[in-house]
Amino acid sequence: MNNSEPKRYLVTAALPYANGPVHIGHLAGCYLPADIYVRYLKAQGKEVLFICGSDEHGVPITIKAKKEGITPQQVVDKYDGIMKNAFKDFGIDFSYYGRTSSKTHHDTAQEFFRTLYDKGVFKEEITKQYYDEEAKQFLADRYITGTCPRCGNPNAYGDQCEKCGTTLSPTDLINPKSALSGATPVLKETKNWFLPMGDIQQSDEFQEYIKRFEGWKSNIKGQCSSWLTEGLQPRAMTRDLDWGVPVPIDGADGKVLYVWFDAPIGYISATKEYLQLAASNWQLANTGDRPEASGQKPAAFEDWWQNDETALIHFIGKDNIVFHAIIFPMMLMTHGKFILPTNVPANEFLNLEGDKISTSRNWAVWLHEYLVDFPNRQDELRYVLTSIAPETKDSEFTWKDYQTRVNSELVSIFGNFVNRVLVLSNKFYEGKIPAITSALTDERLLTCRQTCLDSIAQSLHAMREDLDAVKLRDAQAEFINVARAGNKYLADTEPWKLIKTDAESVKQIMFDALQICAKLAIAAEPFLPHTATKLKAMLAANDLHWSSLFNENILKENRQLGTAEILYKQVEDEEILKQLTRLENIKIANIQQPEASSLNEVKADITYEDFEKLDLRVGKVLEAEKVPKADKLLKLIVDLGFEKRTILSGIAEYYQPEELVGKLVTVVANLAPRKIRGIESQGMLLMAGNDFGKLYSVGPEKDIEVGSVVK
Ligand SMILES: [Zn+2]
Repeated sequence: MNNSEPKRYLVTAALPYANGPVHIGHLAGCYLPADIYVRYLKAQGKEVLFICGSDEHGVPITIKAKKEGITPQQVVDKYDGIMKNAFKDFGIDFSYYGRTSSKTHHDTAQEFFRTLYDKGVFKEEITKQYYDEEAKQFLADRYITGTCPRCGNPNAYGDQCEKCGTTLSPTDLINPKSALSGATPVLKETKNWFLPMGDIQQSDEFQEYIKRFEGWKSNIKGQCSSWLTEGLQPRAMTRDLDWGVPVPIDGADGKVLYVWFDAPIGYISATKEYLQLAASNWQLANTGDRPEASGQKPAAFEDWWQNDETALIHFIGKDNIVFHAIIFPMMLMTHGKFILPTNVPANEFLNLEGDKISTSRNWAVWLHEYLVDFPNRQDELRYVLTSIAPETKDSEFTWKDYQTRVNSELVSIFGNFVNRVLVLSNKFYEGKIPAITSALTDERLLTCRQTCLDSIAQSLHAMREDLDAVKLRDAQAEFINVARAGNKYLADTEPWKLIKTDAESVKQIMFDALQICAKLAIAAEPFLPHTATKLKAMLAANDLHWSSLFNENILKENRQLGTAEILYKQVEDEEILKQLTRLENIKIANIQQPEASSLNEVKADITYEDFEKLDLRVGKVLEAEKVPKADKLLKLIVDLGFEKRTILSGIAEYYQPEELVGKLVTVVANLAPRKIRGIESQGMLLMAGNDFGKLYSVGPEKDIEVGSVVK
């Protein structure tokens, strides 16, 4: 790889899945950080392409369509529109927003697959998969439901039980059922094409590539190294499904490309579409002998995707790490023509008011709704989401915190400083930048001034370093420190009083304060672009440029300022109450109408003999610890009196390990042992669970000897 400064930057943000609108978790996860970084690059005059688009294939879209009684195409048309408009209104400045249902994308993805196929990259494998004989189709994992072998949840999916969190394969399910027809599916042979990830992992090229991880964020490094240490398994790049990009080879009827094969290629196809558009626009602007015809001819596709001088940067959320840091690079590598990612900045998750954000439970702040409830207040949300960005660990959005941050930081510090400066300039100098006629002589004022200027220079340097390192939360904090220093300068020198006794000194102070406003207008561009535009207009300086950020005299003496406006409105209690009430109502609705609930369905009758087969015992938890790399699992050592058992339980989200030690629990003592994550689980704990993510252990009400029979 080229270690010098890249010639151009190709920045992508994860393609949002077109089965629901955009929420604040998506924004904080990748779109906002990507946008800030892109704006920063552009402000410096770098050549940047910012690519995104809707991911419109995959099983959840077909399920959503079935549920709503519409076609998958109608589902994606609806959400593509909602997402695209919300991003635009919010100020996410994509160069191009594509869709994976476009013809260019289908062609590009097929061509990509074909190249790998022709090079003999794939391994063909025949496996047995569930097939619905009534619906006459193979069933994707999500299309099969059945009883979870771990926890008995009757609505577990073929890939996962959402109750206990266990990862499953469809054949693990007890009494599998087709979600299409309700029929019992049969196992049938089918051929698919696998990417031999284990082999590629051994290649010199891949080993060379992973050296790049060294400079990446620790969450990426951690996840990737755990995948690589475990050893990668071949993964099917085709699926038996009728919604997606058809597999472009003979003998693959009824098969489409795996959605994670085609989705990242969406970055490539969207780039193609953008360049076609840009080329024809450039052509239009540069035909004939029009003197205004100008602009650099857009770089060619090869320059963006196949030239080492380009930095390829993928902004994603933590759930996409393996696909962007390992699988997609393997595809690019085996194809042979493409550059590999320079960096993959991934964020962790954002929670909302104490709970995980969930599209299906409607537990979210939806961007399109925010834009209606808080018109022209995009930057307030940008500011808060960047302040709490989950850059290194999960973080939480609360409306109370939103109100506090807007009111005490944007309104009281930044807005207040700018407002004071503009109002005083109007009052003292009829809205002009004052001309300095004599330098400051007062010792105290000189010290105040030097302290302020030093502090600002330091903050701006730190901000720039943080931006380069994609530490946007810290960068924005340094930005606000600039306004804070300006505020302090005014508070310490009190020009509104000083004007009566020392008008000459006030000229210097106000001149400085206006230069600070100009710096803020320039530095706000990546973080708060709407504010930057507004502030530049107030300073009548639309041409302010990033390169003058460190200059002392950005705005020249005697220059006329524009009209002062309030930058930020106070967030009122009623506005917050309205949002909290909305969330409260969603909580109530979720409890009253649990989605696809199993709570009001009683399973089929069993005989007493059936019940008698269960050997339930009282056990005592002796030890409890988290299972590495499994978010939901705890490993317990349980004393049953006659012996001690190792039991894995999917309750890590509900219990801290130490809470469980010493607790009496009920154990299914004769459940056949099962290996999970390489550990043999010798039994199961009885749990009371509902559909809202609660799961609590069931034990005897009073202290009783361990090993006692539960009957
Ligand atoms: Zn389960």
